[in-house]
Amino acid sequence: MSSPIAQPLDALMAVVARHWGYHELRPLQDQAMQATLDGRDSLVVLPTGGGKSLCYQAPAVVLGGTTIVVSPLIALMKDQVDGLRACGVAAAQLDSSLTANNRATTEAEVRAGRFHMLFVSPERLLQNDLPRLLANVPVPAIAIDEAHCISHWGHDFRPEYRMMSRLREFFPQVSVHAYTATATEQVRRDIVTQLALRDPAVLVGNFDRPNLTYRIWPRNDTLKQVCEVIDRHTGEAGIVYCMRRKDVDELAASLRERGVNARPYHAGLTNELRQATQEEFASERCDIVVATIAFGMGIDRSNVRFVIHIALPKSLEHYQQETGRAGRDGLEAECVLLYSGGDVVSMRAMITKSASEAEDRSFLPSVLGHLDDIDRYARGAVCRHKALVGYFGQDYPEASCKACDLCLGDTEDVPNAVVVAQKILSCVARVKGSFGVVHVLGILRGKNVDTIRKRGHDQLTVFGLLKDATDNDVRDWIYQIIGQGALVQTTDEFPKLVLNDASWEVMRGKRTIRLVQLARRGKGDRPQKSEAAIVSWEGVDEGLFEVLRQLRKKVAAERQVPSYVIFSDTTLRELARLRPSTLAGMRAIYGIGEAKLRDLGQAFLDVIAAHCNEFGLKADIEPPKPVGPTLFEQQATTAPLTSRQLELFALFRQGLSLEEVSRRSGLARSTLGDYLAAYVRHERPDSIAAWVDQPTYGRVLAAAMQTGGTRLKPIFLALGEAVDYETIRLVVAHAAGQAGER
Ligand code: ADP
Repeated sequence: MSSPIAQPLDALMAVVARHWGYHELRPLQDQAMQATLDGRDSLVVLPTGGGKSLCYQAPAVVLGGTTIVVSPLIALMKDQVDGLRACGVAAAQLDSSLTANNRATTEAEVRAGRFHMLFVSPERLLQNDLPRLLANVPVPAIAIDEAHCISHWGHDFRPEYRMMSRLREFFPQVSVHAYTATATEQVRRDIVTQLALRDPAVLVGNFDRPNLTYRIWPRNDTLKQVCEVIDRHTGEAGIVYCMRRKDVDELAASLRERGVNARPYHAGLTNELRQATQEEFASERCDIVVATIAFGMGIDRSNVRFVIHIALPKSLEHYQQETGRAGRDGLEAECVLLYSGGDVVSMRAMITKSASEAEDRSFLPSVLGHLDDIDRYARGAVCRHKALVGYFGQDYPEASCKACDLCLGDTEDVPNAVVVAQKILSCVARVKGSFGVVHVLGILRGKNVDTIRKRGHDQLTVFGLLKDATDNDVRDWIYQIIGQGALVQTTDEFPKLVLNDASWEVMRGKRTIRLVQLARRGKGDRPQKSEAAIVSWEGVDEGLFEVLRQLRKKVAAERQVPSYVIFSDTTLRELARLRPSTLAGMRAIYGIGEAKLRDLGQAFLDVIAAHCNEFGLKADIEPPKPVGPTLFEQQATTAPLTSRQLELFALFRQGLSLEEVSRRSGLARSTLGDYLAAYVRHERPDSIAAWVDQPTYGRVLAAAMQTGGTRLKPIFLALGEAVDYETIRLVVAHAAGQAGER
């Protein structure tokens, strides 16, 4: 038997291409797979849709023997096993759903080492028979899917996951690999401890989901707003999350009255009903589910194109999890949160009430803190992608995400934002940081109430300074200032507003603030599409896509597997874009490996040929260059400039150094690189000598030419890692602009 040590990644890539039809690995997949190949314990944290399964599936095929995979839900296991079989990979599951007969056959095959992967439920570990079943079969690795279930800090704690320690007893020499999408540090630490991982490779991916467009709208007419989103996604799948079961029942009924085939899902419904809904959703017989958060982990449909929250989720972790169910196939999807400040008030009351009835109140500040965090997020004026990854401790260097309400221009900027911010901050200064949002807001709005009068706060010069705004606006703005770091809300049970250094910089006019009016989205406006949405449909014949979808549905029904086990939407779109006429042409399509080509290729080719014939469409379209556009061809965006960009561009135009721009704008030096690159792309200045000296410019350009100029990293390496990425990006942006001029 070959040793599991030091298998090269080449062998792995060949396996990935053969079985899955993918030709590149996603970020961190290579390192995660290498850890498995090296037999080193690992913890892999990738966002939903990041491709965690492939991290253990592909090495399992390369290593031979039988990799044990522990997965929390029987439904998920079954789908995974079906998916692997469709890709020509032998896998099986051992769980309570098997009949006695099936179990005996499966066990015999397990003993004979027939499977690359054996999926087991955590409960199954109780039976203690795994070592016996696998006594004569090499077990190269153990994979634990949804590993956060082991932590009671997580949102999905399952006590039976504690059984996992048995695996270590059964197979002491085998490396253990844990996978989760949960981003919090606490849960990660807990996983390492609970699973007793030994010197694990800890790989934490980028949490941004660029294909998701986040939108937060003030809630004014729930049903109408939900229908507006559904109408924009005719024929596509979506989930509508509600806070209470009652809301689920009512909304689902109203939607059905309007002819929308929406199913309710919550813990109060019978098991049979819930299971039926899950299956109908997976097999595309039903596209819309209205649910509480009970509808969660079991959903593996990868083409969910929208998620709507009609009420505020409990925390940003929940929000990230729930919105994360959209667009797992990497294609564009939309997440709309209908926001109302009233939700926060009632959730606060609910939480405080249940705390008063509980013996242990220690959790209260943390739960309320989570609520404040998401409230601030919803009211914020910082790009949603940036704010969300920032919450999980990651940087977001792009100046615009081109995929949230704030960056797509759904909202309106407040004129003279700095002056408004100064009024708010002065008020906090006057009351000496001893009061919370409600009190400060009351003073600014000039409210004639007892709590303000009895402290003499109606005599302050700031009293009534913002009386023309609405309560809601002022509250939004306070949170927006907090979100931009120029005001602090304490985290005790009665949070107060206090100033920090940045507040004083704003008050002295040394720092800018962006404030937006979230409620000013034009009625009936069709929101702009995100860039991902535009790009992913480019060249796709939508009629053909629909025909292929119907074929997929039919095949899936015949085989009783979920549709995505047959092909993902990405594959269907690529088929509808490139329209291959031969099996060889089809093999080059994303997501079509050898087994699926043999099994499904001809049926799909026939449908493509018939459609092309009928509509006179050209077949065998040349695929775009596989490496994508060179950096020089990636052009400036047409998105409108933000006020921040306008302000910074004016400073760059004067040729000021980054240090000077940092001093004048109050922005950290580290955040300016992206703005400068955006400026260079946008305005195409003749020279960037103010920021990059001539010899460096020449060297970067030469390295870019030499490496083909498609990615930054090879340029960085060719320069012996001596020139930073920021400079490389700047030179490339400038050279691209110059090339475009000619
Ligand atoms: P996760 O478990 O992290 O949520 P999945 O494992 O379900 O994500 O992967 C999401 C989708 O991406 C699946 O359809 C999967 O087959 C696909 N995928 C995974 N790795 C790659 C890759 N390297 N190239 C293309 N598609 C991939």
